[in-house]
Amino acid sequence: MRQRTLSRRAALQLLGASVPVVRGAFAFGGARATEADDALHLQPTPTRLYATADPGRERSESFVFHVLVESARPRELSLEELQVELGSRGARVIASSIVGAALAPLVLRPGTTNRGMDGAVLASPLHRPLAVRIRCSAPAASAVDAIDVRLTMREGNAPMVASARFPVERYVQRTRLLFPFTGAGIITNAGVTNGGHGNRSGQFALDVVGLNAAYAVYAGAGTTASADYADWGRPIIAPAAGEVVFARADRPDQPDPEKSDPAFYASEYPQGGDPGNHVIIAHGDDEFSMIAHLQAGSLRVRAGERVAAGQLLGLLGSSGDTVTPHVHYQLQSGPDWRFADGLPCVFTNVSAGPLVRGTFLDAK
Ligand SMILES: [Zn+2]
Repeated sequence: MRQRTLSRRAALQLLGASVPVVRGAFAFGGARATEADDALHLQPTPTRLYATADPGRERSESFVFHVLVESARPRELSLEELQVELGSRGARVIASSIVGAALAPLVLRPGTTNRGMDGAVLASPLHRPLAVRIRCSAPAASAVDAIDVRLTMREGNAPMVASARFPVERYVQRTRLLFPFTGAGIITNAGVTNGGHGNRSGQFALDVVGLNAAYAVYAGAGTTASADYADWGRPIIAPAAGEVVFARADRPDQPDPEKSDPAFYASEYPQGGDPGNHVIIAHGDDEFSMIAHLQAGSLRVRAGERVAAGQLLGLLGSSGDTVTPHVHYQLQSGPDWRFADGLPCVFTNVSAGPLVRGTFLDAK
């Protein structure tokens, strides 16, 4: 990756004084345009950034998020330079600049369809001509507390710069959580820094395959039948007390447990990401559990019902977008997984260290 550093002042000088600049505001939720009605707005997603402790002895932290470029009108923007500065107590810790071909994998053009959990399209007054993926890390000792992002773009022949400062937090979990099944398992996908889920609420999600007492995936000789998996039908329990705010129970399991067949996705998820049968529980303190891919016909709870910690929700299955029967768990900041932030989480009944891909756990 070609990298060089360029001071903010130097960047402005290169671009000239007529460049419209969106100044960052020191507030959550991104920087509001302050100069022009036609200005761009940089919106981070997730909306709050939490440092993720990296496994290993380097004692580093990662910061992974998207910056959505929002505009009141449709526009065609191309990104020419991404500058990222990690800061602590107002001082710069690390600065980087990415240009040219290295930018291509970081630029996404977000879809324009926003749908709620009921499939209804949500009205949005904003256009999002592009999004940029930010991924960086720093030694934990540097205590990064803010990330400055500056995008140098072009709209036709017009240069355009937008910047914002995003605060970085360390999340303090409020709900005491049980892992949603008991027994042995292996984490096959963890958060976005660990090969896992890239969507907003899935930033810290876990996919866990249950294992038998000998830590084997298969209960028997191992065929391709769902029932041969050691975790198939394992009871899935409420991680903590709360109110069920959403429950979907109408989805079939994937008939071939080694294949995520789009023919078995719900119609609102043609691109994948279908959670299948799933339950969302409000625990209070703005913390919500989402538990997904439950077995067809197994749900024992309904929306509106209160549940106790450890109460049976349903059985482990393979409904939705799944390969290998497993449970998907995430802690999130709101009731709708499409629009909530993912939250880091730990469980009181799991003694494993960092919950990263490949970790064996034994939930008591
Ligand atoms: Zn998952």
